[in-house]
Amino acid sequence: MPAMTTERRRLRVAGVVQGVGFRPFVHRLATLHGLSGFALNDTGGVLVEVEGPADRLDAFAFALASDPPALAEVASIATEWRPVRGDRTFEIRPSAAGAGLAPIPPDIATCDACLRELFDPGDRRYRYPFLSCSGCGPRFTIVTGAPYDRVRTTMASFPMCGDCRREYENPADRRFHAEPIACPACGPRLTTPLEDAVAVLRDGGIVAVKGLGGYHLACDAADEAAVARLRRRKHRDAKPFAVMTSSPHSFAILDPTDEAMLASPARPIVLVRRRAGIGLAASVAPGTSWLGLMLPYTPLHHLLLADTGLPLVMTSGNRTDEPIAIDDHDAEGRLGAIADLVLGHDRRIERRCEDSVVRTGVPVRRSRGFTPGALRLPIPAPRPLVATGAQTKSTFCVARGADAFLSGHLGDLDHEEAYRAFAADLALTLDMLGLAPEAVACDQHPDYRATRWAKAQGLELHEVQHHHAHAAACLAEHHETEQSLAVVLDGTGYGGDGTLWGGEVLRCDLVACERIAYLEPVPLPGGEAAVREPWRVAAWHLEQAGLPVPWEQWAVVRESLKVNAPRSSGAGRLFDAVAAILGVRERVTYEGQAAIELEHLAADVRAAPLPCRVDAGVVHGGDLVVAAAADLANGRDRAAIAAAFHEGVAAAFARACAETGSPRTVALSGGCLQNLRLLDSLTYRLEALGLRVLRHRRVPPTDGGVSFGQAAIAAARMSACA
Ligand code: ZN
Ligand code: ZN
Ligand code: FE
Repeated sequence: MPAMTTERRRLRVAGVVQGVGFRPFVHRLATLHGLSGFALNDTGGVLVEVEGPADRLDAFAFALASDPPALAEVASIATEWRPVRGDRTFEIRPSAAGAGLAPIPPDIATCDACLRELFDPGDRRYRYPFLSCSGCGPRFTIVTGAPYDRVRTTMASFPMCGDCRREYENPADRRFHAEPIACPACGPRLTTPLEDAVAVLRDGGIVAVKGLGGYHLACDAADEAAVARLRRRKHRDAKPFAVMTSSPHSFAILDPTDEAMLASPARPIVLVRRRAGIGLAASVAPGTSWLGLMLPYTPLHHLLLADTGLPLVMTSGNRTDEPIAIDDHDAEGRLGAIADLVLGHDRRIERRCEDSVVRTGVPVRRSRGFTPGALRLPIPAPRPLVATGAQTKSTFCVARGADAFLSGHLGDLDHEEAYRAFAADLALTLDMLGLAPEAVACDQHPDYRATRWAKAQGLELHEVQHHHAHAAACLAEHHETEQSLAVVLDGTGYGGDGTLWGGEVLRCDLVACERIAYLEPVPLPGGEAAVREPWRVAAWHLEQAGLPVPWEQWAVVRESLKVNAPRSSGAGRLFDAVAAILGVRERVTYEGQAAIELEHLAADVRAAPLPCRVDAGVVHGGDLVVAAAADLANGRDRAAIAAAFHEGVAAAFARACAETGSPRTVALSGGCLQNLRLLDSLTYRLEALGLRVLRHRRVPPTDGGVSFGQAAIAAARMSACA
């Protein structure tokens, strides 16, 4: 048999291949197959040239695609043949300069190998709070520019010691080109002794802990007095706190989806059903059966949990409604008054990135660990575009071809810092992709800050109705491009017809949208005040029905109907009204509180739906309010009424969909569909009517998913016109 001829091939590997240990993997693979050549990071991802016998090159290419490192995602490998050069060795070359096209990886939880070192007294990184490797550690939050390389991270100010340098340069080492590599001799340090923080926590105190994407406020989650003190100082009355623990099984019964999500490299907060009688302070998550749990994801977290032996409340380091603190001075200033001690360090956080939140496998907030990973658009953007999202729970989305880069949760853009993060993160995303947008998509709401930004760009503009964007976000993640129905149950959004929408059945695709049914609009007495005080809408409903209004203030507040009462079909207000009537909550301290507590009350109680007329595309939500009030007056159990109300909303919207006849696919979206009882009932009823149901899997159903929907619509409209 003749000797196999020597060839040289150039492989362009695209996808998430930087900062995930891909080049060391390529090096090992090339060495294993006895090939020479090189690999480097460039603007397209990783560029590999390999030389050797054709059969071994085939085997190499096969392994490259089929068995990449755990955190890598190979999107494509393009191969071309090059002239043979007679290289003797395989080497890793420095990154090619220039603006990158390659994605920056998300932040990754401490891996098992690093964890073993952390607690190994014989290791040189024993108990070092900043150890990481090419498969774990900070990424997105320390990046100052693209492409991803140590000099363009906040680790640039820590020159490597000889030992770290040797590991970093050794292709056989698991820290080969681990950009955040560090050790006690050369890397970042804590600015406060760890023992002090442990003592404060064990003593029931509050510690501000510098994390990956911002500061947390921590305290003993089992200590009622400590949690109550944190609530008081943070001005947060009732919104649930997340708990960090190494033993989540002690607090909740976990199904395999939750377990996998908890332990995933993204390490989000996972909302789970709590066990009864667990040793947590009641004020951790009052008024809800859900509990937010997360596993430790930095070495510092592991040390804190191990040394205190406590489950810790870990909540964003801010006062309620402000963006999370990332700057050390800012933390001292803003958190100094809340925390008894600040546990900081000298590795700068370049960008704010809040913890992600997932429930039953669906993101409620998609941030740390996910961002800036790409999603796919069903219709590729013919030209690069930016979608600017909504106002609260703001995100933006940059689309290039079929890739859609959805930003992390930025918060309420009315906050200066959130708006700065919008600008800075957008600039980085464009820089990392090496592109300038040619079109902008935005909400129709004239007062949204992101909409004003969009209009000021002087680029091709695509205005998208808020609930169409919600629907499109769900359709796009399922790659559904045909005309479909969508049930969007939301707070409120700009309708474009002078009223506020938020309880819709839409007939839409990724280009056009028609509103075919909606909740009958009701006035919001006092405007925004009616959102904070659910009893106001309840009072209006009762008065309309000629029923007694139990709230004395109504005599005064009803005057606002004449001057300030925008009309809204938002489903959120319907839940509010029933919550107020059932005595669940008359005033809320955080968004969605009344609905969350109403869902909690309904629990798993079985009930037939309350009656609700649907005619000529109008869903008479008032029927449900009046029926609930009547049941209460007749002495029916409140939990049963709450359950029957949930079923009534679901049944009414299912009927509204069925009455349209076609199409036969229904997307479900909007903030109110975080309510799992409502979501499940609606799904069940639609499927029973023979309709195909699409639910969110990757993008939040809240306003955090709106920018992705806008991007999908703009891309579809642009390609329809192209
Ligand atoms: Zn590691
Ligand atoms: Zn070192
Ligand atoms: Fe919305």
